[in-house]
Amino acid sequence: MPINFIPNDPRAGHPPAAVIEAHAERPDELARYVYLGSVPEDTYPTDSDGFLFWQCREAALRAIDLWELIDGSTLTTWQNGKTLRLKHKTPGQPQLNAFYDRLSLSFFQVDAAGGDSYRSGASTDVVAHEAGHAFLDAIRPDLWGAFQAEPGAFHEAFGDCIAILVALQDEATRKVLVDQGLLRQKNFVESTAEDLSHGIAVLVDANHNAAVPRRALNTHQWVMPASLPVSGGPGVLINEVHSLGMIFSGCFYDTLTNIYQSRGVESEKGLQAAARTAGELLVAAARTAPLKPRFFQAVGNAMLIADGMRNAGVNAQAIRDGFGAHNVLLNAEQLTSPTVVLAGRPPSETVHSVRDVLTQASRRSLLEVTGDDTDQRFYGSRVQLGDQSVAAVRRRQKVSLADVASDLEGVYCYVEEDVLIGEQNGNAALLGEVETVRQSAVEAQSFVFSLHAAGQISEEAHSQAGDDTIGAVSHVVSNVGEERRLLRKRFNCRCHALPGTARAFLCT
Ligand SMILES: [Zn+2]
Repeated sequence: MPINFIPNDPRAGHPPAAVIEAHAERPDELARYVYLGSVPEDTYPTDSDGFLFWQCREAALRAIDLWELIDGSTLTTWQNGKTLRLKHKTPGQPQLNAFYDRLSLSFFQVDAAGGDSYRSGASTDVVAHEAGHAFLDAIRPDLWGAFQAEPGAFHEAFGDCIAILVALQDEATRKVLVDQGLLRQKNFVESTAEDLSHGIAVLVDANHNAAVPRRALNTHQWVMPASLPVSGGPGVLINEVHSLGMIFSGCFYDTLTNIYQSRGVESEKGLQAAARTAGELLVAAARTAPLKPRFFQAVGNAMLIADGMRNAGVNAQAIRDGFGAHNVLLNAEQLTSPTVVLAGRPPSETVHSVRDVLTQASRRSLLEVTGDDTDQRFYGSRVQLGDQSVAAVRRRQKVSLADVASDLEGVYCYVEEDVLIGEQNGNAALLGEVETVRQSAVEAQSFVFSLHAAGQISEEAHSQAGDDTIGAVSHVVSNVGEERRLLRKRFNCRCHALPGTARAFLCT
């Protein structure tokens, strides 16, 4: 049986709902979704619950198709197992919200007084964005607990990039963009989640930062996230992960369109091919980029390395220009260039423990670079850069959050960074840059400050009250042994309490 399907956001304007054949179910041996209830397959009206069920399912399955295309492999498991719950309309308190929490992709509905309904599960943009969180978490679970602005913002940007790439899988969409010359003008593909941002404008505040759609075709320029304010008018760049993510999605969209234009084949097929190339480079880089506070740059450099391996570097200029347009300056060699000679022998060829990478002597001289701190630990790891496996340690540092806000007195988080270790003339050497203890603490505190300002932190005990009451919360304060620790609970849509109610939330 066919279904009605909208291949973009319901408020995007293009393309209209069309009757299509629904995706077949995925076999049990692969990663798949588990649905909320069951609805007979049919061409339901677009304002019905039956449509919402099949629209959400189709968008989520199209996102897997896209993922498997650009990752070049079959998705066999999510971060947390074979199944992920797809809650097209989560029961409970109405919210303009959507989230990924390692167990589910959850979507919500608000019925406004004027008769408008805001249904996040009806937006292919929003569904693909949340699925993007799940794909990235499956290959980079370490980003879940990163306490820096850029890895968090990259997660959000990655969701938007997946939404854009899913939209570009649709032939009618590509034809509109190419035939009307819209690729480098404001268009319905680079703008995402139009319906939910409209909900914020109408139901919360037309001057809210999230009252306009996020846009990948933008002129936002990278600056240190901590230098930005935590609030601002519609679409203004602020120190908040969804907003900051526009810097990276801007780099990616510009890279994609640069690749398209550089090939001189301006057709919908050319656009399809360019989107696939850009998507493949994005995923390859997301898999391998070392965890660094300047993560946008690390991913961009990893895209350059991936392009060198896969495409003989033919897209290097497109990538450099795409990132350069947003003040993210790339130089892949910098990742592995020796910057400090360390005492001790270089890393062993085989790594069984952290001491094979970092001898006691090397560790002592690394501490001179980062600053000695009893709350700093090093763990063995390796980092894959293109075809090169580079010795690395993961530096983990305990950071007090007492100075961030009075209610975080006695609460800690752990910030991590990959430190690449190589060899120079028979000595161990630090490759690339490493943060000092002080810099890492400031990065983490600034990130937590932005979460706190957006109302995204709760006590674990409160968050247990039920999923429907915790729309804005992405992080919780938990007791871990003797310690009060801040931990991620979910990747939330950008949520804000509705005026006049403590229990309903809006997001984009
Ligand atoms: Zn998100």
